Amino acid sequence: MKIIDILNKKNMSLSFEVFPPKRESTFESVVEATEEIAACHPAFMSVTYGAGGGTSKYTLEIAKNIKEKYNVPSLAHLTCVSSSRATIKEKIKEMEEMGIKNVMALRGDLTPELEKTDPSTWDYKHATELIYDLKESGGDFCIGAACYPEVHPDSVNQKDDLIHLRDKVEAGAEFLTTQMVFDNNLFFNFMYKIREIGVTVPIIPGIMPITNANQVARAIKLSGSFMPQRFKSLVDYFGNDPDAMKQAGIAYATDQIIDLYANGITNVHVYSMNKPDVAKTIMDNLSAILGKDFAR
Ligand code: FAD
Repeated sequence: MKIIDILNKKNMSLSFEVFPPKRESTFESVVEATEEIAACHPAFMSVTYGAGGGTSKYTLEIAKNIKEKYNVPSLAHLTCVSSSRATIKEKIKEMEEMGIKNVMALRGDLTPELEKTDPSTWDYKHATELIYDLKESGGDFCIGAACYPEVHPDSVNQKDDLIHLRDKVEAGAEFLTTQMVFDNNLFFNFMYKIREIGVTVPIIPGIMPITNANQVARAIKLSGSFMPQRFKSLVDYFGNDPDAMKQAGIAYATDQIIDLYANGITNVHVYSMNKPDVAKTIMDNLSAILGKDFAR
């Protein structure tokens, strides 16, 4: 099933994210976590490409399993900046052969090694080019792209970032998923801005449940996301007690999701980080809300 068809139904729903294993020896544990998360019946599950410390090697295999074994639509991420055109061509072919229908087309982060090289020698500089290649391949893909309510760190300003975002949509991205936000107002302001420049495709807010205090620094470093004082107080107060921190972090994420639903957003993406217990608790917290079509 294509993600765009799920989004167009406009039922309140959640999607979850998993990342591939770092080593072959942990593959089975990722498969188990994936199966448990799939058992929560999310609207779809995404599988990152090398992000979060995982390797890209298993992305397609995990995405295929999710779709075929667990009967949950899957979204395979693909990054391009470290790859040659020939490698990407092969990956696209592999996706088609494996029946992958949904692709999140990304540039990927610039590694220190890559930054030392001359960009004019790179086959890909931006996600837009990957989107063009996916479209040109003739494959039957629903393509998603990333967006940044707090501006991508490489951008000189938000205006520039928004113009490049519109380019991704014009190239063929059918939906957008945001970088994690901890303050919903940033998401709503961003949505207003992208609608103003004529971007009308569905936009899915990304929510990261913070379940331990160490994750906070990592999440900020990775995303540059703003942490509201309300959230910082919670980490200060409960951070030293793992169980209390987990409960408070999940409650905070649940509260954000409910606020998004109550303000007209129907699909929310949860950066569930291979944690079935987190996915399950959030699903349970929203059991009377999910899947419903509340009158507006
Ligand atoms: P782009 O859209 O190419 O944008 C990157 C920067 O270049 C922005 O500043 C943009 O404004 C600018 N830009 C774009 N086009 C142009 C142009 N034509 N000229 C000049 N500037 C331009 N990383 C992974 O490694 N694996 C993953 O699985 C993964 N999944 C992600 C999922 C989501 C939802 C998000 C939000 C991020 C994800 N990332 C992942 C991280 C992502 O790869 C990085 O944030 C990366 O730095 C940018 O990727 P992008 O696709 O947004 O890039």
